[in-house]
Amino acid sequence: MRCGERMKVRVLPTMCMSHRLCERIAPKVFKVDQFGFSWAIIEEDLPKELHTGAREAVYRCPAKALLVDDG
Ligand code: SF4
Repeated sequence: MRCGERMKVRVLPTMCMSHRLCERIAPKVFKVDQFGFSWAIIEEDLPKELHTGAREAVYRCPAKALLVDDG
C-alpha cells in the first residue's frame, strides 16, 4: 500500500458550528444531523474517488472541525 492511498476522516463534534459545507462538498462522506452536527458516514479506508471531496471539505470547514489522515 503506497502512502496516501488510505484515508481516514474524523469530525470534532465540539468544534462543529453547523455550516453544512462539508455535506455540500462531500455528501458521500459527511452528513449533518437534525441538530446541525456533522458526522462521517465513512471514517476509514475511504474509496479513492471520495478522497478529493473529503480533503476539500476538511480544508474548507470554517470551524476547523474536520481532520484527515491520508498517510
Ligand atoms: S463544514 Fe465544519 S462546521 Fe460546518 S457542519 Fe461541516 S464540520 Fe460542522
